[in-house]
Amino acid sequence: MSRYWSDIVNRLVPYVPGEQPALAKPVKLNTNENPYAPSPRVLEAIRHELGETGESLRRYPDPVAKRLRAAVAAHHGIRAEQVFVGNGSDEVLAHAFQALLKHDKSILFPDITYSFYPTYARLYEVEYRTVPLTSEFTINVDDYLQPNVSNGGVIFPNPNAPTGHALPLAEIERLVAASPDSVVVIDEAYVDFGAESAIALIDRYPNLLVVHTTSKSRSLAGMRVGFAFGHPDLIDALNRVKDSFNSYPLDRLAQAAATAAYEDAEWLKTTSARVIASRERLTAALLALGFEVVPSAANFVFAKHPAHDAAAIAAKLREKEIFVRHFNAPRVNQHLRISIGTDAECDTLVEALKAIVA
Ligand code: PMP
Repeated sequence: MSRYWSDIVNRLVPYVPGEQPALAKPVKLNTNENPYAPSPRVLEAIRHELGETGESLRRYPDPVAKRLRAAVAAHHGIRAEQVFVGNGSDEVLAHAFQALLKHDKSILFPDITYSFYPTYARLYEVEYRTVPLTSEFTINVDDYLQPNVSNGGVIFPNPNAPTGHALPLAEIERLVAASPDSVVVIDEAYVDFGAESAIALIDRYPNLLVVHTTSKSRSLAGMRVGFAFGHPDLIDALNRVKDSFNSYPLDRLAQAAATAAYEDAEWLKTTSARVIASRERLTAALLALGFEVVPSAANFVFAKHPAHDAAAIAAKLREKEIFVRHFNAPRVNQHLRISIGTDAECDTLVEALKAIVA
């Protein structure tokens, strides 16, 4: 607190990201990063962008990331004017709150979801109401469509975080089709690990915005590149906010790296398949130790042990330099969110958990 702070800063409740421990070799399963390196083409593209002398860094990057947007549009079979690019999908989401979700009526999102949403809502003074997940931790679209539920927009991840549960595309379409007067934002940060993308719907629904990131399936969390896909009018709104905020959100290396990542669809397929196989293997091992595990379509699992306190388990793992995520929040404070690492990392985790729950 300081007398120099604005009112809004006094009221903010900042998001707290997962710990980035300063250890040589932590088993880091707490922030849903990819355990594999990005495509070798990414490294090549960064080297090419730098050249011998780094000469290109003298110049500002392309403010509209034309080449990157073209590559991403081609990958998804859409037009470049349907693509917005930002500095990580967090920035894209923030712009969406300000540009598309801030209206008179409250927006809706699940009670258990990405905890950055309420933070953005407070930052941009967007009214919101939370809709409880079902007892199985699933989203019931009907809960968002009740005539007496005011709706200035809806946002949730698919698959949801931190639960990992995915809704089928038909359910997303039912929601979007029934909400023509407001924007539905589907945050598909984890879509490549097992859900159907709603990008297939953007030509038909001008109120649908789909958000993607290169941080998870493309192993580029350190580069900060995210996207929104939707009707050009929605993309225009995001660009108006962007150009009132930061003309150059993506540096040259990030643009080169992300373009190369999108040009290597094979790498994405191979590494995602490995993560999915490890997820199923880890799920089986956790079930064998007595954990209850929410079926996951993401690169993490959400698990609870009926006989052991989740915070205590996380603390004991931490002593062994194994990091998982615990949320001290209603309904989920007995769960742990465990990112999928390599099989070797998952094995280290399972061995440690064996000793803890024995
Ligand atoms: N959406 C969800 C649901 C997430 O879990 C995350 C990762 N914390 C993000 C968006 C943001 O990802 P990034 O800013 O790295 O693109």
